[in-house]
Amino acid sequence: MAAGWQDVVRDAAAVREAAAVAVDAALLAGVLMRTGEQPNASDVVNYAPFTLLPSAVPRALFEQAYAVQQDFNLLVDAVSQNKEFLEQTLASTIKVDDFTARLFRIYMQVLEEGLAQTVFLGINRSDYMFDCGLDGTAALRQIEINTIAASFGGLTSRTADVHRLVLKVLGKTEEASQLLPNNPAKGLALGIAKAWELYGSQRAVVMFLVEEVQRNIFDQRCVENELWNRNIRVVRKRFRDVFEQGSLDASRRLYMDGQEVAVVYYREGYVPQIYNEQNWAARLLLERSRAVKCPDIATQLVGTKKVQQELSRPGTLEKLLPGHPAAIARIRATFAGLYSLDEGEEGDRIAATAIADPDRFVLKPQREGGGNNLYGEELREVLEKIKDSPERTSYILMDKIKPQPALNYLLRAHSPLQVSECISELGIFGVYVRQGQELVLNQAAGHLLRTKAIEHADGGVAAGVAVLDTPYLV
Ligand code: ADP
Ligand code: MG
Repeated sequence: MAAGWQDVVRDAAAVREAAAVAVDAALLAGVLMRTGEQPNASDVVNYAPFTLLPSAVPRALFEQAYAVQQDFNLLVDAVSQNKEFLEQTLASTIKVDDFTARLFRIYMQVLEEGLAQTVFLGINRSDYMFDCGLDGTAALRQIEINTIAASFGGLTSRTADVHRLVLKVLGKTEEASQLLPNNPAKGLALGIAKAWELYGSQRAVVMFLVEEVQRNIFDQRCVENELWNRNIRVVRKRFRDVFEQGSLDASRRLYMDGQEVAVVYYREGYVPQIYNEQNWAARLLLERSRAVKCPDIATQLVGTKKVQQELSRPGTLEKLLPGHPAAIARIRATFAGLYSLDEGEEGDRIAATAIADPDRFVLKPQREGGGNNLYGEELREVLEKIKDSPERTSYILMDKIKPQPALNYLLRAHSPLQVSECISELGIFGVYVRQGQELVLNQAAGHLLRTKAIEHADGGVAAGVAVLDTPYLV
């Protein structure tokens, strides 16, 4: 692409030297991950994978992504309060998808009891790719919006410094000075701190609900430390800890072994595999509580692929955001083609189209965390198999986005240094806080660029496919 790294990308000696500097800079800056062998100890750590060079991102599309983030915050918040829409939209999905059905059951249960929670905190990340048109121009296309456990806001706060140094080592001082500052960790902590403050109990803590396997702890620590800097206490607990130590008082305040919890920030809870019956009980306890959940269960449901697909139907945004025509136009401009596979003629038709031309589409189940989507021949095989069964409705179809690849090096511990053809995905972090009906905070909190080799259709950084990157605006 037009970033102009062509002169260095094939210069083996320069690349080797810059890569050595880059890896040490990443370690010094704290771009870290625990190892696969010892995921729950910090005795041995490594650098999180990242690109040697920042990747070119069209400035206009980068600005467009930032400009629409407050609109997406507004939309997610509105949908999370729209029981009728969630019920209708997910009706077909929950008949065939047990995980979504179980989440939905908790959602209905807490609504029936009446919400104790009055302060709402959303932290999301809207992800985009740059679709390359036939005439060579790129368009911003939303891949998905993550409403739970959107990660890497911490580590990515430290990658721009690393890339700045790399560019200097490669003799590109002017370009180095153009890399933007970026600190999502601070923005996320601001939202959590605001929610904590509005909850209104000095003694209460913020609870990070964390995984059993905590390889990505440093990403979370970046946010935790921002909270400690504000003199807000943070504890890290797993679902099983909540099952063992959690309780509600008469006004449904949440306590962990006697310690009141103001905010529950989920970094876990979006994949079915982690839920045994105890963990489901713990989830229900948290959702019933007065504590500010980030996200509450309604907002987690807003992040399903099925909701994303229904939002793209003509007229839907108008119903959900009345009086916001400009926001609607900005949101819709980022949508790729999305198609329902519900039973009926509409679903039959698009299923047939996709079977005939699978490379035009991506087939997506209601799952998060990467590695679940189907492409090409596999998409065709699966659709052939399920096209006449209700199972079809547990998926949606999406137009496949085709970005222009660029050469880069993906730096990974214990991996050879080799040039790859790469594509990037830009994420914008959004943060909002609502008290009752009043939105008291609504911001874009920073960005994340992830890059992967083109041979991998799917998968994020945690899945070991994509690596951290920094945008270089062109
Ligand atoms: P997940 O919830 O598992 O992260 P995503 O919708 O983000 O699901 O898809 C995972 C990955 O698959 C994305 O990061 C992207 O690399 C790829 N992908 C998803 N949708 C598309 C698409 N429409 N076109 C091209 N690639 C896509
Ligand atoms: Mg994703």
